[in-house]
Amino acid sequence: MQPTYPPEAEAYREKVQAFLAEKLPPNWQGVGSLEGEVLQQFVTTWRATLNEARYLAPGWPAEYGGGGLSALEQVIVAEEFAKAGVPTGGFNDAFGIQMLGNTLLQWGTDEQKAYYLPRILSNADIWCQGYSEPNAGSDLSNLGLKAELDGDQWILNGQKIWTSAGHLADHIFTLARTDPDAPRHKGISFLLVDMRQPGIEVRPIKMISGESEFNEVFYTDAVCPKGNVVGELNNGWAVAMTLLGYERGEAAATVPIRFRAELDRLLLMAKERGIASDPLIRQRLAWCYSKVQMMRYLGMRTLTQFTKGHHPGPDGAIAKLYWSEYHKVVTELAMDIMGMDGLVATGRPPQTAFQTDDGGAPNSTASWQGVFLNARAGTIYAGSSQIQRNIIGEMVLGLPKEPKRS
Ligand SMILES: Cc1cc2nc3c(=O)[nH]c(=O)nc-3n(C[C@H](O)[C@H](O)[C@H](O)COP(=O)(O)OP(=O)(O)OC[C@H]3O[C@@H](n4cnc5c(N)ncnc54)[C@H](O)[C@@H]3O)c2cc1C
Repeated sequence: MQPTYPPEAEAYREKVQAFLAEKLPPNWQGVGSLEGEVLQQFVTTWRATLNEARYLAPGWPAEYGGGGLSALEQVIVAEEFAKAGVPTGGFNDAFGIQMLGNTLLQWGTDEQKAYYLPRILSNADIWCQGYSEPNAGSDLSNLGLKAELDGDQWILNGQKIWTSAGHLADHIFTLARTDPDAPRHKGISFLLVDMRQPGIEVRPIKMISGESEFNEVFYTDAVCPKGNVVGELNNGWAVAMTLLGYERGEAAATVPIRFRAELDRLLLMAKERGIASDPLIRQRLAWCYSKVQMMRYLGMRTLTQFTKGHHPGPDGAIAKLYWSEYHKVVTELAMDIMGMDGLVATGRPPQTAFQTDDGGAPNSTASWQGVFLNARAGTIYAGSSQIQRNIIGEMVLGLPKEPKRS
């Protein structure tokens, strides 16, 4: 099978390639080749360039500052950016643009869309995700953050945990219990909360990699306006699920490209270390290659559905489960290829805790060791592998539901 795109897609691809050629520095190697201040500076400037060209939120309607692109054009943009190894936005944009923005387009009031969407793009508001709590992860509907109405505002008390990039954010979209007497799923609302207030405290958590990429967030009489409920009071579960669909399913175009680039880097390292002729290593590398190819076809299937107007839903669990489980195996192989060297982290560590290191990253032991550790987290965040299997079984295949606790 040789999948192809329609001719108009290829014409649009040339346009995106021309944009990248014009805007990227000469001899561009990918954002993974930058670090420290230079990286920060590049991401800030690049984000502004994308916003100006309307590539920051390519799928949003033009009235909110988006590109108004067709589904097919969005796919082309995502592919070309991933191939070039350039970021699609700034550090918190996955939360602001992909997750919250797309969800607001579906569930927000006209006022919420008109106010928040342009502010996300201009970086006036920087978002993070407040779903998980110490007693509510996989069992998310058990969440206990309390929101009580007092006049025109909600008063929030409780705790969130594992809040990625919460230390970089000034706003949090959060799930709170607004009706403690309703059945668990029916008493939850989706609230938009400004974190710049004394009632919100962010405490970093140190990860196995040594980084502090996620946080605890404490609410002590924190406030948010009554009107900051998205998608109706006590209907937060449905809104939350829409957002999770975007969180799990959005990457169909980019995942195969990122993982292929990572595998190419691993192949190079195996050759450089003189281990590429080892039959067992070769067998494991071939296994990885076949998995990345399958990821590509899986991605194309998702993208074909997307171009026909299907938004990611429970089926987003298939790709999420596939790439995250694969990533544990390929990074274990990288550690084996490095042998004892892999135990000593030298060179530049990964710049992102999400999926692979960036395009253009060096083949340093620090990069691979960091990605190896982060890969464990990939099977937990955005819903653990066990939960993805339950979703696939129950909501995609229509199998009987697992027994619920009483
Ligand atoms: C790096 C990272 C970043 C994260 N970022 C965010 C963020 O920004 N915002 C946010 O809100 N959350 C975030 N999370 C939290 C993440 O969503 C939760 O960790 C995840 O949903 C699992 O919940 P838990 O940690 O409470 O584990 P638990 O739910 O306690 O699960 C423990 C184990 O039991 C298994 N298990 C639980 N229930 C079932 C079941 N019904 N059937 C079979 N097995 C089951 C799980 O698969 C897991 O192996 C992040 C997590 C990580 C690791």
